[in-house]
Amino acid sequence: MIKAIVIEKDEQGYRSSLQEINETFLPEGDTDVEVLYSTLNYKDALAITGKGPVVRQFPMIPGIDLVGKVTKSKSDKFSPDDLVLLNGFGVGETHMGGLAEKATLNSDWLIPLPKKLSPKQAMAIGTAGYTAMLCVMALEKNGVTPDKGEILVTGANGGVGSFAIALLAKLGYQVVASTGRADQSEYLHTLGANEVLDRKTLSEPGRPLAKERWAGAIDSIGSHTLANICASIKYGGTVAACGLAQGMDLPSTVMPFILRGVTLAGVDSVMRPIEDRIEAWQRIADLLSDATLNEISHTISLDNVIETANKLMNGQIRGRVIVELSK
Ligand code: NDP
Repeated sequence: MIKAIVIEKDEQGYRSSLQEINETFLPEGDTDVEVLYSTLNYKDALAITGKGPVVRQFPMIPGIDLVGKVTKSKSDKFSPDDLVLLNGFGVGETHMGGLAEKATLNSDWLIPLPKKLSPKQAMAIGTAGYTAMLCVMALEKNGVTPDKGEILVTGANGGVGSFAIALLAKLGYQVVASTGRADQSEYLHTLGANEVLDRKTLSEPGRPLAKERWAGAIDSIGSHTLANICASIKYGGTVAACGLAQGMDLPSTVMPFILRGVTLAGVDSVMRPIEDRIEAWQRIADLLSDATLNEISHTISLDNVIETANKLMNGQIRGRVIVELSK
């Protein structure tokens, strides 16, 4: 028997609970992994609380991230005791996820844990940190170098936002952090933000074009916030857009794109090819220190996952949540 968070949906409604389940509950996979740590992302909180249509089949074990030890593999890529890392690929949505003591997985989804990271550090980073790195890579690819000017990061206290600030600051960018939690300014400055902005200045409907300020931006908010960011990106700048914490709409016009040559670079982490994943993870491992990872994350056990998911949906969680499976 193994412990797992299980989401069910039937005539009794949508519900999540911690259960002891038989291993036969797990699907087919060519590789068995003893899960050491998982995490709680925004997407996991949507799934657990039922506030967003993340889970595509029921029952489901949530958890889009995991790190663990291979116990058995039919693939010649992995052997027992190898430490492996998984983000996305529909795990926790259509395939049983990481919030369980064991996972049965497709070896094509796994990457070896980067040598510089411990399993716990990898889950302090998780999909949020890896997505932040993909966003930084999107800015770089579009020529947004530190000398071009300030970079705006929205959802600053969230997982993606916290990592985006820390990574950009390490790379020498001037970072402005937008947040609804001004009381957390000290944390944001510790991560490397040069200035903290009230998110209200971005969240209301704005003009198609505004004063040019940002050389680039990393946005996990969407909606009016993303529209206002596009309107105030400097000529030739880029916005890396990855999230929808305010909403999935984008009430913008073509003006920033056709008059200022602004690039809106969409960033998806879920189906990202393995080579990009390995590059992003290696760069994070090289850039971030243990102290930064400790600053950004805290650890809970499987028993606290459902309560913490509700807090995350209410905007009461700062940074990243690691879930330790043996706790
Ligand atoms: P978190 O919950 O950790 O952070 C979200 C942050 O957004 C909050 O901390 C808050 O920051 C801000 N926020 C929340 N609600 C609102 C609102 N109504 N208006 C404006 N700001 C708001 O989530 P993550 O960082 O893990 O994820 C952020 C987004 O990115 C989510 O939409 C998620 O689905 C998406 N995502 C997408 C990925 C992809 O592959 N494209 C991968 C990972 C995440 P503050 O308190 O500082 O204002």
